[in-house]
Amino acid sequence: MYNIPTSSSRRVVIIGGGFGGLAAAKALRESGLQVVMIDSNNCHQFQPLLYQVATSGLEPTAIAFPLRSILRGRKDFHFRMAYVTGVDVERCVVMTETGELEYDYLVVAAGADTNYFGMSNIEAASMPLKSIDEALALRNRIYRSLESAQKCECVEEQERLLNFVIVGGGATGVELAGALAELRNRVLPRDFPDLDFSRMKVWLLNASDRLLEAFSEKSSEKCLTDLRAMGVDVLVEAKVSDYADGAVIYNDGQRIESANLIWASGIIANKFEGLDNTARGRRIVIDEYCRVGERVFAIGDIAINNESPLPQVAQVAIQQGRNVGRNVINMERGRALEKFVYKNKGSMATIGRNRAVAEIGRLRVSGFAAWVLWLFVHLLFILGFRNKLLVMWDWAWSYVTHDQPLRSIIEAKKRR
Ligand SMILES: Cc1cc2nc3c(=O)[nH]c(=O)nc-3n(C[C@H](O)[C@H](O)[C@H](O)COP(=O)(O)OP(=O)(O)OC[C@H]3O[C@@H](n4cnc5c(N)ncnc54)[C@H](O)[C@@H]3O)c2cc1C
Repeated sequence: MYNIPTSSSRRVVIIGGGFGGLAAAKALRESGLQVVMIDSNNCHQFQPLLYQVATSGLEPTAIAFPLRSILRGRKDFHFRMAYVTGVDVERCVVMTETGELEYDYLVVAAGADTNYFGMSNIEAASMPLKSIDEALALRNRIYRSLESAQKCECVEEQERLLNFVIVGGGATGVELAGALAELRNRVLPRDFPDLDFSRMKVWLLNASDRLLEAFSEKSSEKCLTDLRAMGVDVLVEAKVSDYADGAVIYNDGQRIESANLIWASGIIANKFEGLDNTARGRRIVIDEYCRVGERVFAIGDIAINNESPLPQVAQVAIQQGRNVGRNVINMERGRALEKFVYKNKGSMATIGRNRAVAEIGRLRVSGFAAWVLWLFVHLLFILGFRNKLLVMWDWAWSYVTHDQPLRSIIEAKKRR
């Protein structure tokens, strides 16, 4: 199945070409093993910058990188685009929508999806932000709502179209709220001179009492002050429970009329048949070596070690991927396994132009210095020289011209 060339080497199958899967594949480069990566997409997506695609700051191809070209030229490395449905650990096979594939070692790195916590009205009405197509759909929604608002003669309906409600005060919600506010403050009034942008509201609703809970209280406060200075309507202790009759419902019945609900409030691990994913957030339970069972590993957003739970961030996935790659080689060579130890390299979130917060060890930085740091770190981690150039170009253009030029509505035609 899958036309994988026969090999005298044992086979490692990696499910997922995100941060974790790629790190594992790179660590296995000199292993002498056959490596097969399966992903339902043919590209690696740089999720930390999705919000910039959604708000017209970056073009989608700048944060997507074809998996085949990242790993081309590697001996006995094979990529297959397929959707994995399950794993049979007894028979050592991965099940996909188009057939089965045998493995000797398995690395599950399939990440997570948006969690609506069972609220079906919200799932049906809201825009998530977990992939490039969702970022593009959100960008289209923003400009469709503005175009409709421009034509609309009913004041109430116009208000609904101009209300953008973001739910979730983590880094994604904060970054999106800041970028949308900047778009409104600096860019959109030039495109829509007949629309009164003092009526366009960017709301950020957070269930807990502070934004950026993973950061220190000082950084949370700085973030709140900055967002409010930029004109974002931030509501804390505002728990969204429903979307009904065109309005977002929070805290037992309070309403914000809005045609634009953006959901950035939680993730749930992607699901496969055959693996125990009963831990919090539907995650797969792993041990201190990232193992699920014999020769089966899980890493990144999809995995949790209940003894020492870690945040679902890129650094955890990357470091676990490297650890698992090394441990597969250790197993092959009969050596002892290395325990996984996470090295926290810090956290950062951008709030807007020249505004960010960064925490590295005991160092707390905010404002321009944190913003520059944020730019450099993200550039460093984007794959591919061309992509780095594209991102740098888009950022430089926006910074100098105060413009975000990628404001076209581009929608795929329905397939016949
Ligand atoms: C909007 C946003 C902003 C973020 N910002 C930051 C940030 O600033 N800093 C940070 O550290 N982290 C950030 N994160 C989190 C970070 O992106 C994740 O922690 C990281 O991507 C997890 O890596 P992973 O390898 O586990 O999964 P992913 O990178 O999500 O990769 C999973 C891969 O598996 C594939 N896949 C999924 N299901 C299947 C299937 N059934 N069959 C085949 N393939 C499948 C997917 O196509 C994908 O390529 C952000 C996430 C989002 C959504």
